Formats: sequence, structure tokens, C-alpha cells
Amino acid sequence: MTPAVAFQKTSRHFGAVRAVDAVDLEIKPGEFFAMLGPSGSGKTTCLRLIAGFEQPTSGSISIFGERAEGVPPYRRNVNTVFQDYALFPHLNVLDNVAYGLMVKGVGKDERHRAAEDALKLVQLPGYGGRKPGQLSGGQRQRVALARALVNKPKVLLLDEPLGALDLKLRESMQEELKQLQKALGITFVFVTHDQGEALSMADRVAVFNDGRIMQVGAPEEIYQRPASRFVADFVGSSNVLPPDFVQRYAGQHRWGSLRPEQIRVRSDTSGDGVAARVVSRHYLGAATKLSLDANGLRLHATLPSGTAVPEDGAHVMLTFNRDQLHLMEEQA
Ligand code: ATP
Repeated sequence: MTPAVAFQKTSRHFGAVRAVDAVDLEIKPGEFFAMLGPSGSGKTTCLRLIAGFEQPTSGSISIFGERAEGVPPYRRNVNTVFQDYALFPHLNVLDNVAYGLMVKGVGKDERHRAAEDALKLVQLPGYGGRKPGQLSGGQRQRVALARALVNKPKVLLLDEPLGALDLKLRESMQEELKQLQKALGITFVFVTHDQGEALSMADRVAVFNDGRIMQVGAPEEIYQRPASRFVADFVGSSNVLPPDFVQRYAGQHRWGSLRPEQIRVRSDTSGDGVAARVVSRHYLGAATKLSLDANGLRLHATLPSGTAVPEDGAHVMLTFNRDQLHLMEEQA
């Protein structure tokens, strides 16, 4: 199958800064794809390369099998939803949504009909007459989405589109975006630095660091089987275990990772296990997170609510299932 977007050894350097560095990537048609990584890791630059706002300094980009270098943004069949929405304050919602069609020379009736349809899609029918200033943050976000969908792009690029929304609204928009994407079947490429958002929404996730992709995979794969210390650290709050520790408890001199929910904590310190002391406790509602010191190694464990939580300073014994200890290559 021809990929929706393909990067082949694609780089975008700004002088000495390797914003995107020899990236190989294939995004499938109809996929909800997340680009996840810390600030400055190259996610936005990747999105701008797909959109055509940036050109690669080396390597190539194809969109549905066609080489994209030199093709201007408006001829790419790709639209972008920006984090700040970039709506025109002086135009009403309908004209904001219809703007791209107007630029293409589509007549007024036709473009307004298409804009009405797009507003229905994002559940804002009847809002066409308002100005952006008369909308809530969540509604402005929907208008930006409608505007990007109005000319039915094959690929929709979303740069931290939910970043400006409060947590509650963010969660409901995550759900809606996901449903909309499934219903439309358009390829979504979504940039976020929020690992929870990437894992819960995407079909596949690429984890970026320093202009490079550290791992690409389904959310479960990235979470359960991180390929490196960086991915284990960045995605979730994995316990990264040094080779000496892994050697002692699993017989292999490799780096390991263990999720906080995979560690069991026992107050009875006789018998086998990893001796540790409780450093602090954080009550999270559905669980309590413990910060632990195991002979100088800082570990985290989560206890589901309802289990007994040891006191600060208590000496405890930690156990885990060896099958759940994930061994990995060191890398970055
Ligand atoms: P954020 O989450 O903060 O948006 P990001 O992962 O999207 O970060 P990019 O915006 O792609 O990261 O930036 C990657 C690197 O490239 C950064 O070091 C940034 O400073 C640099 N960079 C981006 N655009 C330019 C530019 N036009 N000129 C010089 N350096 C740039």
C-alpha cells in the first residue's frame, strides 16, 4: 500500500541545528499518527515539512506516492490545524471556514454550503454568523478544525491542537477528534508532547528526541516494550533499571524497565525481594504513587486504591514478575 506520507532520510538543518535528522518514516493511509517528544525534538518541523512550509535540506518526502519537494503548500492536499487556531478575528465563523475555498475561487453559495457542512461535522451548526471573539476556546478549536476539513484534505496535520484547552475539555475533544477521524477516514498526523494524549488517541506513535525518531509503534508496544532508556523515561513514568540491578534480579547485564504498576510492595521484610524505604507518597485518587529508595536507586510504584499504603520512611520489600521486566538497548 502506498503510504500517505513517507520520509526518506529526510533532514532539515538550520545551520548547526539538526531540527530533523535523517528521519525514515511511513505513515499509512487512514492512520491516526502521533508525533510525541519533548520540546525542541523536531516534531513541528516534521509537520511543516509535510505541509510544505519547510523544505528538506536533504532526503525526500512523498505524499501518497508523489514527491513533495518543490510543491507549494496549497497544492499538497494537506491542511494544518495550528495550536493558536489562526482564525481571522474580523471574519465571521462561516467566512473563516470558507476561506480556503474562497482563495481557490469557489463561488459564494457553494463555499458557504461546504462551510455549513464542515460546521455540522464539528458540531457547531448555526454558529456561522458569530465572530471568533464571541466563541469559547473549545468552540474556536472546532472552527479551526472545520476550516481545515472544508476542502477535504487527504492528510490533516494537527500541531498541539488541544494545548490551549482545559483538562476536561481536552479529554472530551480527544474523544471527538478520534471519532471524527475514524468517520472521515482521513490520515491525521498529530503533534503532542503529552504522552497520555498520544497513547490514548493514536493508532501508532513516533517518539522523537533531538531530531530523530527513537521508536515507532502501537501505543501498547511503545509503553510495554520501550526500545531505549529515553523512550522508557519519556513515555509513562517507567522505572529505568541499571544493568547491575537487572543482573542481580534477572541474570542479564542489560538495562531494564519496569512500570510502576508492575511493582508489588510488601510490608513484611522477611523473604525474597528488593529491600527499599518509602521516601514519599502521592495520593492520586484511583491510586497512590510511592517514591522508593532501593539502596540508592530511586523507584516508583503505584498501589491501587484500597490496598494498604506503608508510611513514609517505612522499610518494605518489593517484588515483581520477571516476565514483566523489559530488557532494552541503552541508546540516548
Ligand atoms: P515544541 O514541542 O517546543 O514545539 P518541537 O519538537 O516541535 O518543539 P521544533 O519546533 O521542530 O521542535 O524545533 C526543533 C529544533 O529546531 C529546535 O532546536 C528549534 O529551536 C530549531 N528550529 C526550528 N525552527 C527553526 C528555525 N526557523 N531556525 C532555526 N532553528 C529552528
